[in-house]
Amino acid sequence: MDGTTVEAMRTALRGPVIGPQDPEYDEARKIYNAMIDRRPAAIVPCRDAGDVMNAVDFIRDHGLELAVRGGGHSGPGLCLVEDGVTIDLSPMRWVRVDPVAKTAQVGGGAQLGDLDHAAHAFGLATPGGIISTTGVGGLTLGGGHGYLTRKYGLTVDNLLSADVVLADGSFVTASEDDHQDLFWALRGGGGNFGVVTSFTYRLHPVHTVVFGVTLWSLDSIGDVLQWYRDFLPSAPEDLYGFFAGLVVPPGPPFPEEIHGRKMCGVVWCWTGDLDVVDKAFAAVTDPAPPAFHFTAPLPYPAVQSTFDELIPTGLQWYWRGDFFDRITDGAIDVHAKYVEGIPTDLCTMHLYPVDAAGQRAGQGDMAWAYRDAVWSGVIGGIDPDPANAETVRRWAVDYWEELHPHSMGGAYVNFLGAGESQDRVKTTYRGNYDRLAQIKRTYDADNLFHANQNIRPAQ
Ligand code: FAD
Repeated sequence: MDGTTVEAMRTALRGPVIGPQDPEYDEARKIYNAMIDRRPAAIVPCRDAGDVMNAVDFIRDHGLELAVRGGGHSGPGLCLVEDGVTIDLSPMRWVRVDPVAKTAQVGGGAQLGDLDHAAHAFGLATPGGIISTTGVGGLTLGGGHGYLTRKYGLTVDNLLSADVVLADGSFVTASEDDHQDLFWALRGGGGNFGVVTSFTYRLHPVHTVVFGVTLWSLDSIGDVLQWYRDFLPSAPEDLYGFFAGLVVPPGPPFPEEIHGRKMCGVVWCWTGDLDVVDKAFAAVTDPAPPAFHFTAPLPYPAVQSTFDELIPTGLQWYWRGDFFDRITDGAIDVHAKYVEGIPTDLCTMHLYPVDAAGQRAGQGDMAWAYRDAVWSGVIGGIDPDPANAETVRRWAVDYWEELHPHSMGGAYVNFLGAGESQDRVKTTYRGNYDRLAQIKRTYDADNLFHANQNIRPAQ
């Protein structure tokens, strides 16, 4: 893309257009995953739907490559294309809560922390992911799961409507009543169908929850996983607990004697009655005596940002995922081997529950196609040092390759790694793929929105 086009864009659009010559360019192209170092030709920060409509029209009419940035958290860096134009929604971080209707309308570039903070003032929340800087955009469009999922479902189960700028530059609102097919596709189909300028969510009464962490020595990982695979699915919906293999971080609340040790554990969130919380956690001694067990009542937004400092923006990341409906004995052996082999301190494996309320909707009710999954697993190779990038990537890929045969075959679309194939996208959507491809043809026949886990328009 030449400088003349960038200049023409500056004339045509209202807001700033940030190009490689501008002092803010390097900051503007920085994303969460520092392993991705792409140089777009221009970044266009948008303040409202009108800005987005103009930008889409300009990019399409000039045959330019388009990407959309929500929170900039995707592992493969889908919000940046080399020599293309990024529509940057980060100026659109507004949230409007309606405490009477118990809904929140949220700008397409907001982060989870923006939504959690605004809703918390009214004692309300909706399910979202576990890091507060994640964009609501990419997370919601992929499905969205987190601490409230066993109780209130996926993020998309709580999506009431979405304002969307389509490939032809027009603006529509999709909901159960309008553009139903588009609304169906947006709930799990990723950024394939347009730029979502705002999301409206159903909120639930959530204020203070009990956050907890239980850690066991790695010698017990087999016993712990055998216990966890039976315990968690039969636990009340108020109890959420994701399993982790990790290196214990060197700081509070962990006692010094376990700092730096490889361990396995469960990170808990209890949304039920605070008076019966001890009963909820009584079973944690069943598989083996824990090396560490901690629970504390916390405001929900504090829980949502617990890990923000541990894994800030700017680390090297490579991840891969899969869905699991069971944890086989073979899978337990693979976990034991690779958690023992964690190469550097931030590398981790998580099994996030998506059962209970997460399974309530039907398989074909929306694009999310794994209602029979119990866990959404992710293996994260993470390190601050670019020199370790290949080491952590290799660990994640090797681990995934041995674990994959024990999975359901497909992954949460937001946990697909860089360079995974088109077949993996198809496996993500299973029986819903063909309908998604039809809807893609209706709304984006020329595949303008392809910087994503791409669903190709049906022929
Ligand atoms: P971006 O990189 O900005 O966008 C990702 C994709 O979505 C791109 O294709 C982009 O074009 C598209 N997109 C974003 N916003 C819009 C929009 N408004 N309109 C149209 N398209 C848009 N996921 C969970 O469900 N639960 C978790 O607990 C969880 N934890 C995570 C923890 C970490 C540390 C990280 C890095 C990720 C985690 N994720 C989790 C995955 C997360 O959901 C995805 O990375 C998601 O893509 C992030 O969205 P984003 O808007 O920040 O990303």
